[in-house]
Order: sequence, then structure tokens, then C-alpha cells
Amino acid sequence: MSESLSIPIRKTNWSILDSEDLYRVASWGQPYFFINNEGRLSVRPKDKSSVSIDIVSVIEKLQKQGVLLPVLVRFPELLISQVKRLNEAFGSAILESGYGGSYQGVYPIKVNQIQEVVDTILQAGRNYQMGLECGSKAEFLAALSYLHDDQTLLICNGIKDRAMLELMIEAQKLGKKVIPVLEKTQEYAELKSIIWRTKYSPVLGARLRLGAEGSGRWAECSGLRSKFGLSVSELICLVDELKLLNLQDKMQLLHCHLGSQIADIYKLKSAVREFTQIYASLVNKGIGIKYLDVGGGLGVNYEENKINSEGGVNYDLHQYANVIVSTVQAVCDEQGVQEPVLITESGRAITAYHAVLVVPVLGMQDREKWIKGMIMPDDAHQDSQALFNMMRYARDVSTKEALALFSHAKELHKRIRNAFSLGFISLNEHAIMDHAFWEVCSSIRNTLSNDQDCDEMPELIELENLLAHQYICDFSVFRSMPDHWAIGQTFPVMPIERLEQPPTDSAVLMDLTCDSDGQITHYVSSRPNKSVLPVHSFIPGQRNYMGVFLLGAYEDSMGDAHNLFGKVGEAYVYSNLENKNNFKIEKFIQETTVQEILEQLQYFSDDLRRRMSEIVRKKTQSGEISSETGRAILEKYMTCLQKGTYCDSEALGQDMS
Ligand SMILES: *Cc1c(COP(=O)(O)O)cnc(C)c1O
Repeated sequence: MSESLSIPIRKTNWSILDSEDLYRVASWGQPYFFINNEGRLSVRPKDKSSVSIDIVSVIEKLQKQGVLLPVLVRFPELLISQVKRLNEAFGSAILESGYGGSYQGVYPIKVNQIQEVVDTILQAGRNYQMGLECGSKAEFLAALSYLHDDQTLLICNGIKDRAMLELMIEAQKLGKKVIPVLEKTQEYAELKSIIWRTKYSPVLGARLRLGAEGSGRWAECSGLRSKFGLSVSELICLVDELKLLNLQDKMQLLHCHLGSQIADIYKLKSAVREFTQIYASLVNKGIGIKYLDVGGGLGVNYEENKINSEGGVNYDLHQYANVIVSTVQAVCDEQGVQEPVLITESGRAITAYHAVLVVPVLGMQDREKWIKGMIMPDDAHQDSQALFNMMRYARDVSTKEALALFSHAKELHKRIRNAFSLGFISLNEHAIMDHAFWEVCSSIRNTLSNDQDCDEMPELIELENLLAHQYICDFSVFRSMPDHWAIGQTFPVMPIERLEQPPTDSAVLMDLTCDSDGQITHYVSSRPNKSVLPVHSFIPGQRNYMGVFLLGAYEDSMGDAHNLFGKVGEAYVYSNLENKNNFKIEKFIQETTVQEILEQLQYFSDDLRRRMSEIVRKKTQSGEISSETGRAILEKYMTCLQKGTYCDSEALGQDMS
């Protein structure tokens, strides 16, 4: 098959800057990810420091230690940097505006509950009085144990049963700042009965259902019909009752949450305005609210700084902080009430950056090749003759002619397949025609892609999609990037090395699952066609690694075991100037073994072994296999059980080279 460029590289002197631009690294990776001079994806894990880590050398080091890919690389320093940036953004917004209150972030642990992630965030947040937010019983129990001092806030959202409410009150008696936030009126009824029984009046908060809607994919988290929070009239009833019981000083927190990944900052501004008006009215009614909690939703740019792109937001951290601070300040000013302590519950923005998945490309599904010795039959069908001849002249046509040829070629190819089904042409001719069709398409694609005016032409996009290679990658979309499958969330994906070279092919990345949804269908690039990824050509035996970025938020606990692919191995990597290459692998967590994943479904290794032994025993007894063969089979089975669930790409590479 002729060598063909599948993306237009009009430049001859390709550089890493072209790769940065092509994969939009500056857009989603700011300020952490960049391409180093060796053409490898690198990370600057520490804010405002130039220390950088080459991700490829992390992988090489892991492989030297016997680790198999895929692997999830965590850079906990990115969590620390984000905590700092968030707090500093609010700090400077408060300073600049002369806001009368302070800011306290809380980390909503549902975004990533891994102990080390939570621990790192809390430690980084100590200087800023950063607290935690939980939304379920298990999260509450995990978070409670982390309240090492009496200042750290724990905000408890979600539906709470009696046991949870009681434990929250006990925690308050221990001196901890645990605030149950009432989501439903039933919770208040429960709480009231506890107050009657124990004669202890706890501090509490209330979650409000705002009229203003959020924006972006999670807009339904707010609005009058949302699943969460009290309506304004329920809030008024609650407040009146608290006053009757003389508990008006106990309601210290007002909470709302617009939904994750708020795309449009103007929506945020109007919601915060409405919310602060409610706060001001309650304060004027004599309710002792101290904290105004505007929830999560601080967005991450997965693609580019635009609202309507997949996963873009139209603001940055500083604008986010400024809008919240200045809006609350303005309303408080108008209403003559004291400015509250501001709380945000940013999860995605803190955690997204820190996790990078590296997956090897195992191979590729190629198009029909020309098989040596294939001869076009003399009595070929007339459509076949036409398509065959087209191969010759399709290379040298104008854009306009190319477009006409494309639709003709599609029609011919369809008719030829039809003729085959009806028994008019041979299997050999069928194979030649498939090849001819791809050749024609590839010539037309080259013509169109060399014409700058065709960049966004639907025919070109169709051709690119038709001709893209399928790269088989060693991972599971369902396990490692579930939101891509479930809600079409975009994640930046790109090769992590050879970026000083132009990518000469395009591909769609397929995972290992036996599921047609198991593929990446949307890519971040500056090309108009987002359904294929520009890649370097695949050379068997040569390593070819893809990085998937911004996986640190939500993906860890939402991933599932489709086709029984387990958790991938995880490396915790820190910068370290004393080490070669500036980094240190502090910890490695082994991938899930086949045995472990099977145990979750009640296949226990003793039973498996017993059953396999029985199968083997019958065959050795009957003499169909020798007992050595039987033993060897059993041993192989048991060894496999102890190994990981993904492909051993190194063994695969050896076979191919
Ligand atoms: C999910 C959630 C958050 C986190 O939102 P992010 O967009 O990740 O910052 C915060 N608060 C509540 C109540 C949530 O349910």
C-alpha cells in the first residue's frame, strides 16, 4: 500500500511547538504540562517552580522495576499546587476588593476519596484552614477521622439517617466543626427529635434549591426542580421554627451547589447574587449565619477556553474567585449585612490534573492490504474495472474532481459488495476491490487535505474517519475513563514522546473490552475533525505510548469492572532534585490480579483450582494427556490467576519483533 499522510502536514520543519499547538497542550495543561526539548510530555508539578518531570522517564523507571503498563501515574504535588492556587486566588480577590470576611475551602471527597489524595489535600490546606465535605455515610466516617484539630470544617451534605445525624452531633460534642446541612425537611424532623431527647442543640446548615440554574452538563443540580435542597418556602418554615425554639444562632451555614463544571461565569454570578440575597434576608431576620457556602463547580478546561466546546469554561481561577467575592460583597453592601465567611467546595479543579494514565498501543487494525500474487481477473465485473482504474488516476486530480470521484467510488464499492452477495464476483475480486476503494479514498483525502480551503469540509472529515487506523490500546475505557463512556466527557489524549516529529497518521483508540463503546471517540486537537487523533505511524516492535490526562477527578471511584479488567497499577511520583531525572517514585500500588477481581464475583481460587484439577485429572486418568502435561497446564492456569488483567505488552512486543 502506498505511504500516505492522513493529516495535512503542510509544514516541513515540524517542531515541538507545532505538537503543543496541535494537541492544545497549553490550553488544557496550563500551567503544568508541556513538551520538553526531547519531544516528550513533561510535567511541572510544583506551582511557580521550574522543576520538571519527563513522564516517559517515569515510565522507563517503572518498567526497570518490573512494572507492566497500563499504569496510572499520580503526581500528588499537583494537588498541593492546585490547593495553593485556589486559596491564593481567593486570598487576593479578598485583598483587592477589601471584602470583610474570609475564605475557607472544603474538599468534597466524592471527587476522589483515595486516602492519600485526601491526606495530601488536607496537609496542603492546613495553612488555609481547608476542610472537607462529605455526601454519604461512608464518606462521613472517612472524613470524620481526619479532623485532627478543632478548626477544620466538615460539611455534611447528602441525605442523612438518624445514626449519621447522631454521630454528627457527637462529633460537635467532641469540639469538632462538623456541620450537618439539611437537605430535606424530614431530616429536620429527625434532628428535632434528637434535640428533644438529648437536650443538645447542634450547629446546623441548610441547603437551598435556587431558582437560578447552573450551566453545562450538570445544570440540573440546581434550579427549582432539582433533586437537592430546600425550597425557599421550606427554608422560611425552618427558620421560623428555629426562632420559636430560640435556636436562630445555631443555623450557621447556608449552602447551594450549582452543579459540577460550571461552563459560564455569568450564570455563576447571577446564582451567587440570588443566593446572597437570601442570606441577607435571613440575617436581617436575626438568623446567625456565619458561612456562605457556594458549593463546587469550579471548572477545568478539558479542551479549550470556550463554553461550547466539549468541557471548556469561559473563565479562570482568578475570575472565578473575583466573581464570587465581588458579588457577595456587593449584595451585602446593598442590604447592609455583614460579609460572611465564604466557602467553596471545589473538587474537580483540585484533583483533575494529578492523574495521568499511560497506555501502550498493542497493535493496529489495518485496512485491506494488497496481497502478493493477487491478480485482477480478466472477466472482472464492469464496476470493478471502473474502481480499479480509478486507483490510477485518483492521485492526480483537482479538488473538485476529487469530490466527484469520492461519491462515485462509494457508489461503485457499494454495488460491488452487492454483486458479491449475489454471487457474481469472486472472493479474490472482492478483496482487490476493498483494497482499491481504500487506495482511491486515500488519494482523494490527500488531495483535499492539501487544499487549505477544505479543512472543515464534511467530505474530508468523512474520509479521515474512514481512513483512520484503529489502534488497539491496553486499557479499558470503562475502568479508567468511565465518564467518557457514560456522559461523553472529553479527556485530553496524546502520544507522550516523539513529539518533535510530525504525526503522519490518524487513529481511533480502541480498548480491550469486547464492547463497541470501548473506544475513545472524541479528541482534543486543533484540527477541525475531533473524532480522530493525529498520531505517529505504528511500527511493530517500537514502543508507542499514549497518555490520557486530567483523570484525577471522579474517574477513580466510578470506574467499573466491565469484562473484568481490574484497577491498573498506580505510581505516586514526587519531584526530587537529588534523584536522577528530578523525580522519585514514592509508592507503587500493584494492579488488581485476576484472582482478586474474580473473588469479587465469588470465584475463589481454591474452588477454581479444585475444578481445574478435576478437569485435568479426568484427562490424565483416561490417558488422553500425560501427567506432566496435566501438571504444566494446571501450573499455567494458577500462574495466570496471580497476574494482572491487562495484556503483557512487553511479551507481545517481543513476539512481533
Ligand atoms: C459533587 C459536589 C461538589 C464538587 O463539585 P466540583 O464540580 O467537583 O467542584 C461540591 N459540592 C457538592 C454538594 C457536590 O455534590
